[in-house]
Amino acid sequence: MRVFYDKDADLSLLRGKKVAVIGYGSQGHAHALNLKDSQIDVVVGLREGGDSWRKAQAAGLSVASMSEAAGMADFVIVLIPDETIGKVYRESIAPAIREGATLAFAHGFNIHYGQVSPRADLDVVMIAPKAPGHTVRSTYVDGGGVPGLIAVAQDRSGQARDVALAYASAIGCGRSGVIETNFREETETDLFGEQAVLCGGAVELIKAGFDTLVEAGYAPEMAYFECLHELKLIVDLIYEGGIGTMNYGISNNAEFGEYLTGPRIVTAETRAAMKAVLADIQTGEYAKAFILESQAGAPTLQSRRRLTAAHPIETVGAKLRDMMPWIQRTALVDKTRN
Ligand code: NAP
Ligand code: MG
Repeated sequence: MRVFYDKDADLSLLRGKKVAVIGYGSQGHAHALNLKDSQIDVVVGLREGGDSWRKAQAAGLSVASMSEAAGMADFVIVLIPDETIGKVYRESIAPAIREGATLAFAHGFNIHYGQVSPRADLDVVMIAPKAPGHTVRSTYVDGGGVPGLIAVAQDRSGQARDVALAYASAIGCGRSGVIETNFREETETDLFGEQAVLCGGAVELIKAGFDTLVEAGYAPEMAYFECLHELKLIVDLIYEGGIGTMNYGISNNAEFGEYLTGPRIVTAETRAAMKAVLADIQTGEYAKAFILESQAGAPTLQSRRRLTAAHPIETVGAKLRDMMPWIQRTALVDKTRN
């Protein structure tokens, strides 16, 4: 598989052009600020009266309404929640975006599941950084970049892939490595990874471990450190040097327990469940549930956020983190700014 780096990207494809970043949330603030620092001419397109308008202006960016921004740009990237993109595209972007412009996304969801039918004259691409937006920004500021994926869904100009690669480089991904994929592969693997392993799997594993210890009478503070806090320390080692480096760093006792107990927790049943989850993603069942959830006013998201906030692991965690002020000094998320 070919990996592209900054040396393979031609930033002149974006110089002298205007890039509109629609949205200033997790990904939007990171893309807009990284592009600006890469000397690309950026305008942020937002809905008027929203929180983001003030934040983007406070960061020194030029801000316009979504349709104004889309209408003045050669390259328009849509970085708002997936469930809002179809409507915003139809109402504010499609009527305004210039003929022959590039329409870009950071996730293939809306194109792959047919929620956006792009105008035929546009180039349609994806640049998907493989990290949360706050990390896309913090890594760039530190002089690095997060890995990224690019894909082309529509190539009217014949240059769609090169333009996507230039954009990936401008937001820092070329420092780390850019891989070309397609909208289907990115969408399905991204949804699977976040559901089965990164977010769904990891959070349930943490909570199940915590609950087991607390229900057995151990102190919640102990359970927090063992099942949540230390997970980062372990993942840092895996991230740096793979599973072998992590095993080198832990005790033989911990390593033996890993081999003996890991497969008792992630069992054949878990693997079968993963296959079923993947099938729901491939057939569109998951996408339908998410789109209907949004049309119903997001009742599941709202209830589950409330229930999660009330779980003892969150309340005991907040108290313990207050006693570790250094964690906040390098915080990735500051809700007043990004
Ligand atoms: P997000 O943080 O939830 O987006 C928030 C932004 O969207 C704010 O600027 C908000 O403006 C605006 N917005 C919300 N609802 C809107 C609406 N109905 N109309 C217009 N603007 C609206 O989004 P995100 O998590 O960055 O995700 C953006 C895209 O990147 C998605 O396609 C996602 O799959 C992809 N992606 C995200 C991540 C990640 O780290 N989060 C990683 C990889 C890919 P107001 O302040 O006015 O509400
Ligand atoms: Mg994702």
